[in-house]
Amino acid sequence: MHESISPLLFDVHTHTQFAAFAENQDAVIRRALERQVWIVNVGTQKDTSAAAVETAHHYAEGVYATVGLHPIHTDKSHHDKEELGGEQTFVSRGEEFDYAYYKKLLQNPKVVAIGECGLDYYRLGEQTKQKQFAVFGQQIALASEVRKPLMIHCRNAFADLIDVLNGHRSAFTAPPGIIHFFTGTVDDAKTLLDLGFSFSFGGVITFARDYDDMVRYIPLERIVLETDAPYITPVPYRGKRNEPAYMIEIARKLAEIKKLPFETAARVTTQNARALFAC
Ligand SMILES: [Zn+2]
Repeated sequence: MHESISPLLFDVHTHTQFAAFAENQDAVIRRALERQVWIVNVGTQKDTSAAAVETAHHYAEGVYATVGLHPIHTDKSHHDKEELGGEQTFVSRGEEFDYAYYKKLLQNPKVVAIGECGLDYYRLGEQTKQKQFAVFGQQIALASEVRKPLMIHCRNAFADLIDVLNGHRSAFTAPPGIIHFFTGTVDDAKTLLDLGFSFSFGGVITFARDYDDMVRYIPLERIVLETDAPYITPVPYRGKRNEPAYMIEIARKLAEIKKLPFETAARVTTQNARALFAC
């Protein structure tokens, strides 16, 4: 009989389905599972969402998926080799949000959230703000329809993010979701906490001190951890490709910043993730 082992840590936001892992995705996932790290592969457009769902099916437990359309993929110019592989040979017009396509993927029980979705003003093409609002709104509606939380990406756009979320607050599930790699202000954090959101922190807390005050401010019950692999590798692996097995370094640093025993930081963030994802 297969005995279920409860995880030590939960990487709530990773991308092992991206091209950067094409050579050895299974080995990467097994290294994580051996260290009792459960993972959520986060989709960013149609192909990476479908691949996240497909990946989850190869493992009896501990590997989940989200499906959604990242704001940068609503624009025409973005192509990240780590993500999609190959060279950019054409300029796409940007993906429209195909509600039916994503809803179909959501029939799969291993899909635990919608996203990553949100607003990104870091690279902003013409008229893309309006398109980002529209695509984000459609994903909030989908999350509401299927009663799943949101996995939110926000860069340089917290005032507008809060406006959009306030406008849709009646549609939220409880809990409404995760603000991934939060970089806003304390006021933003307070508003988002009041709206019910949790916050994920990753490798950046191991090498930059800019987030320590925020990590201390947000209650442990609202914090989850992530690697965002293949990006943002934690100390002491800087310079290497990131992977979910490195979660332990991030949890150690969280414990240090919060002045908590490692076991408490690990146990509570893992419980938070399992409660959010109902898994
Ligand atoms: Zn991501």
